[in-house]
Amino acid sequence: MKQLVLASNNAKKLKELDALLAPLGYTLIPQGELSIPEAEEPHPTFIENALAKARHASHLSGLPALADDSGLCVRALGGAPGVLSARYAGDPKSDARNNAKLLADLAPHSDRRAHFVSLLVLCRHAEDPQPLIAEGEWHGEILHAQRGSAGFGYDPLFYIPALEQTAAEMDSALKNRLSHRGQAMQQLLARLAGE
Ligand code: IMP
Repeated sequence: MKQLVLASNNAKKLKELDALLAPLGYTLIPQGELSIPEAEEPHPTFIENALAKARHASHLSGLPALADDSGLCVRALGGAPGVLSARYAGDPKSDARNNAKLLADLAPHSDRRAHFVSLLVLCRHAEDPQPLIAEGEWHGEILHAQRGSAGFGYDPLFYIPALEQTAAEMDSALKNRLSHRGQAMQQLLARLAGE
């Protein structure tokens, strides 16, 4: 079994990434289990934050580390909430308040297009000069009210017209196949297979 530290304590993210990595013989250890504190995420781009998180977890654990920096970019809001997605409505993090703020901010706009982004970074060790990097996008629209109870974050507002479902109405296998994180992970798995 190959071990990877996951530079996140988000249980839902862990479940999604674990389902994708387990078939390749990888075990994910959430960094909290190793008493590794969350890294700062001060940067304006997903890639910089993902690199910072993966390097931090690898440095403190001495193990290879995987980080996902992800978020929702809404066209009419100039890409917001973007890297601030987790804390869009301020501290403490709250999906309910983030979704309420998104609906309020989008109320004056008719363009409801949005996409999720996932940047995955795998550092083999803290000084790895060429970490594995993968990026996925998932395009949809923001509804006017929440639908569904699966998933997390903005899933109940993120609607895929072709499927007539929100991300929170999909079963986890379907979401993993289509999502930004699923797509980024497929790229990363292809790279990992060549390691
Ligand atoms: P991170 O932990 O800094 O990467 O924050 C990611 C934030 O983006 C989450 O807290 C959610 O608000 C949002 N997000 C990322 N991926 C998803 C997803 O698959 N569904 C819903 N929200 C997501």
